[in-house]
Amino acid sequence: MLAGLAANVHQSSPGMKLRFFPYTLQLRHAFGIAGSTRTTTPAMIAELEHEGVTGYGEAAMPPYLGESQATAAVFLEKAAALLAGVRDPYQREEILPAIDALAPGNPAAKAAVDIALHDWIGRKLGAAWHRLWGLDARKAPVTSFTIGIDTPDLMRAKTREAAVYRILKVKLGRDAATDRASIDAIREATDKPITVDANQGWRDREEALRMIEWLAGRGVVFVEQPLAKERLDDTAWLRARSPLPLIGDESVQRLADVLKVRGVFDGINIKLMKCTGLREARQMIVLARALGLKVMLGCMTETSCAISAAAQLSPLVDWADLDGAVLIANDLFDGATIVDGRITLPDRPGIGVVKR
Ligand code: MG
Repeated sequence: MLAGLAANVHQSSPGMKLRFFPYTLQLRHAFGIAGSTRTTTPAMIAELEHEGVTGYGEAAMPPYLGESQATAAVFLEKAAALLAGVRDPYQREEILPAIDALAPGNPAAKAAVDIALHDWIGRKLGAAWHRLWGLDARKAPVTSFTIGIDTPDLMRAKTREAAVYRILKVKLGRDAATDRASIDAIREATDKPITVDANQGWRDREEALRMIEWLAGRGVVFVEQPLAKERLDDTAWLRARSPLPLIGDESVQRLADVLKVRGVFDGINIKLMKCTGLREARQMIVLARALGLKVMLGCMTETSCAISAAAQLSPLVDWADLDGAVLIANDLFDGATIVDGRITLPDRPGIGVVKR
């Protein structure tokens, strides 16, 4: 009764109409990282309608990050009320900080609104966001393809399935013997460059250093988040000795975190679901560059909606890890594609997606 009343209020308003519904992403393979394995990812799809145009957004919420379809629904109800009062949807710099201020946390739910608003504006203007930002789509980078933690046999099989990709990302962060067996299994199947993500899994900095020294002789490009996210002093110690660049992921969520990791990491991994969306992601890229940090653009398991949004920024970054949509079996959208391992931006307005 109350929900119906709220919907009517939004409909009769001259402002923007936000709809949202839960959606469960089905993973093609069980996805193992240090600390957990799962076969689905809860998500929320957002649709932002105004003046006959609909923009799409998405929140993808791996459970260990603390958001859920229930928390997103609570947040998006508040966002819907705010958006119903918006008179000028082009005022991103007014609207998105107001959305952020509705409640602390909720970065993925905020990203759903940010992506939908960007999509709506781009569609209304008839331009893709990479063009509005003045970027060259031909500079979109190759993307890595993630091989989750598994048995050596399955890791070899997954490596062969990933033939089209030019860089593989390997999830490590278990004990040294398991980690070495994983790399050995992949190296039996390919000599492609590998990036390693320890997902905070290594406990001891000396042991982490020995592992990184071992990895440096095996075609590894960089190591993501070797130690727990709050252990910045130990990570700086490790970086001073590491033969490979260290990239911060869990240690770097939002814009202000970029300042904290100067001298700790060589680069940062930006994800829309951590940083509340495209507006702040672009600010983080600018700040990271000013601080001399490398930039990587990553993702959760996501549909082509959130992946295509991130892909619009990809010509600005050093490395992309935007394989989230190819890891799921029930994508709701067509959008950015991966051609010969490279991110390929569609010639469509907004974030470049079409609902299937
Ligand atoms: Mg990571």
